[in-house]
Amino acid sequence: MNYLLIAISALFPAYLFLSFQILDKTNFLLEAASLILLTTIYVFGRTTLEYTVKLGLLSLMVCKSYEFLEEVYQFQSAINDNAVIDVLVGDVLALLGLALIAYGIHNMFRRQKRMAEIEPLTNTFNKRAIEQLSQKELERSLRYMTETSMILVDIDHFKQVNDIYGHQVGDRVLVIVAEHLRKQTRGYDILARWGGDEFIILCPSTSQSEVEEVMTRLQQPLPIADAAIEVTLSIGATTVSPLAENQFERIFSQADKALYKVKNQGRNNRCHFHDLSYDI
Ligand code: GH3
Ligand code: MG
Repeated sequence: MNYLLIAISALFPAYLFLSFQILDKTNFLLEAASLILLTTIYVFGRTTLEYTVKLGLLSLMVCKSYEFLEEVYQFQSAINDNAVIDVLVGDVLALLGLALIAYGIHNMFRRQKRMAEIEPLTNTFNKRAIEQLSQKELERSLRYMTETSMILVDIDHFKQVNDIYGHQVGDRVLVIVAEHLRKQTRGYDILARWGGDEFIILCPSTSQSEVEEVMTRLQQPLPIADAAIEVTLSIGATTVSPLAENQFERIFSQADKALYKVKNQGRNNRCHFHDLSYDI
């Protein structure tokens, strides 16, 4: 079927070329070659191309067919007499086709970029994205002289959820936890899945007292339909001043120490790095 379409796009102008009188042979051949090229791109990209790109290619194919038909002497009166159609098919459709292709390509790049930043199960940012976004936020915090907080969240005994209820239920719990974290934080906080059952939230312009409030909200019970599945969270956080040496790794390590303390002291709790710094 694919090759048939390409063959038709080549045979039709060839038939016209051999059977009719052509006014401008060079122009005719160039337009016919453009049609074959566009048909080939359309045919081979049909399953992968964005809908708008396909529509754009189809518009250009119609446009090119019209343009080589214009060069057939016998079709002259039928085609060239109508100036409105000439402008619509010859110019407007060509511009529309190009615009659709450009828009479609832009969309494909945007989606690819988004996919490279997203962890597909929980639809949160991935590790690489949070590192990059955090660095940007830390630079912004220096410019506006605001504090930045980071929260690490780890599901308690998550392995047991998988072991007892199965991996699929485990996946569902991960999604519920991510939704809970998103709901309990602000729109401009950045939520990412750090890996396994661990999440990270970067909170720009957030002081220690404010991040304590956020942690309190995160500790609220999770909306899990099956009451038998008990899921709790361990939460560690830190807050840094804009003037400190704020590399991502340093802040992460502070929040991780706070989280470690919660895990060590029995889980299902929270800790801020500044409350433990005297004993490390
Ligand atoms: P702790 O309270 O110390 O955090 O114990 P834990 O069991 O939560 O921690 P551990 O690191 O031992 O286990 C994490 C588990 O997370 C192990 C792994 O099978 C599970 N896990 C990691 N990624 C996924 C995933 O994408 N889906 C599911 N269902 N489970 C996952
Ligand atoms: Mg865990």
